[in-house]
Amino acid sequence: MNVYDSGQIARMLALSGYKTTPFMDRADVIFLNTCSIREKAEQKVYSFLGRLARLKRKNSDLIIAAGGCVAQQEGDKMLQRMPHLDLVVGTHAYHRLPWMIQKIESKKCRIVDVELAETIDESEPFINPAKAGENNGVTNFVTVMRGCDNYCAYCVVPYVRGREISRDPANIIQEVEMQVSNGMREVTLLGQNVNSFGKKEGKASFPELLAQLNEIKGLLRIRFTTSHPKDLSDDLINAFGKLDKLCHHIHLPVQSGSDRILGLMNRRYSRQQYLKKIKKLRRVCPQIAITTDIIVGFPGETSDDFKQTLDLIQEVSYDNLFAFKYSDRPQTRATELTDKLPEDAKAIRLQRVLEKQKKQTLLKNQALIGTTATVLVEGASKREKNTLSKIDCHRIQWSGRTSSNRIVHFLTDDGASLGKSIFPGALVSVKINEAYANSLFGRAISVTPDNV
Ligand code: SAM
Ligand code: SF4
Repeated sequence: MNVYDSGQIARMLALSGYKTTPFMDRADVIFLNTCSIREKAEQKVYSFLGRLARLKRKNSDLIIAAGGCVAQQEGDKMLQRMPHLDLVVGTHAYHRLPWMIQKIESKKCRIVDVELAETIDESEPFINPAKAGENNGVTNFVTVMRGCDNYCAYCVVPYVRGREISRDPANIIQEVEMQVSNGMREVTLLGQNVNSFGKKEGKASFPELLAQLNEIKGLLRIRFTTSHPKDLSDDLINAFGKLDKLCHHIHLPVQSGSDRILGLMNRRYSRQQYLKKIKKLRRVCPQIAITTDIIVGFPGETSDDFKQTLDLIQEVSYDNLFAFKYSDRPQTRATELTDKLPEDAKAIRLQRVLEKQKKQTLLKNQALIGTTATVLVEGASKREKNTLSKIDCHRIQWSGRTSSNRIVHFLTDDGASLGKSIFPGALVSVKINEAYANSLFGRAISVTPDNV
């Protein structure tokens, strides 16, 4: 979501005549887009901002701005703590940036704008298509809703992103169509709980939005994140069996395998209910990859609660997961719980989860050796990128992802004419020869003709 927001911010600054530069020490404006989901992310923001004081001393005209969730959460306090900071912009205020920047340029003032809006201004112009896919031009994010009404006990999102609001479906489709006409082939739709999409607005449900996007010519793949397990609907599950562009992957954060901890977290589903949804998903789409988020060391988590999480990881047999040590976040209910776990105990649990999953992911990847995967090419693998213009196309090592979101690096056999028809955005059949914990390696067999 922050990647998408950074695109919006860059486009708003472009309206004031600024261009992006890789040289921070020569910039006229430095904009830091921040995350406050965990304590560590927030600490990094302050240490990074602290280091910018040196640049401000060298150039008093330099404008230093902070946006995103830490800015939203801290507001005025951030300006007080960082005397060299000029601007604090909340998560709903980016469209006012040109005005704020102009005011700072002319009046040399400092501004805080952290107002949370009740609606989305659909007239906000689209992300600059030239910036589509920061890294590859083939895949991109599109935020379909913002905020969250769920109030999980540990989570700061409802406080820093505001109430749940969905964008107009017609507007989303227009944005995706425009990006497709600029080369995007895969879209990832973003929302904290996509199952609530359109519920307040009543224009289209999330499965209906997916069905409409599935019709867009030139778009090859659709992904989304995140779906809250408590409201993962049968309609959305069935979409995996119906929509040919919907990728075979769902990220379904479980957080804990213990019903007691799930209750304390206010997740509003039980372990059994979660497992039932996993079963349904696999019935509709047997090849679906399932990934999750786990929080270890939630206040009061006993070794038995933790063991239930490890058991659940085994039972579901996830394709991959993200795991985090619990940290207190401002305003959340969990901060008031007693029985907090010491850092070292959380670190040990985190390690156990990560090690368990690493073995599981490797086994799953190894099972793919000898199979053929359809890969959407995102670009040349980093190692070869700089030499792209100097070598023959067919010698390039390409990389992309499978529908199940696995990274695949591949080569074409030397001298094969096949290599010349591979390009970023092509769908290529790849025979998998090697498997690692984080990627697969193979050789191209064929390119899907006319895949656009
Ligand atoms: N909306 C998504 C959902 O309900 O699953 C998750 C959004 S949150 C941005 C991403 C992940 O950060 C969560 O799934 C959770 O595992 C983790 N997280 C959130 N708050 C946390 C906290 N206080 N401490 C540790 N991890 C946290
Ligand atoms: Fe946070 Fe996700 Fe819960 Fe919303 S649903 S409060 S974003 S964890």
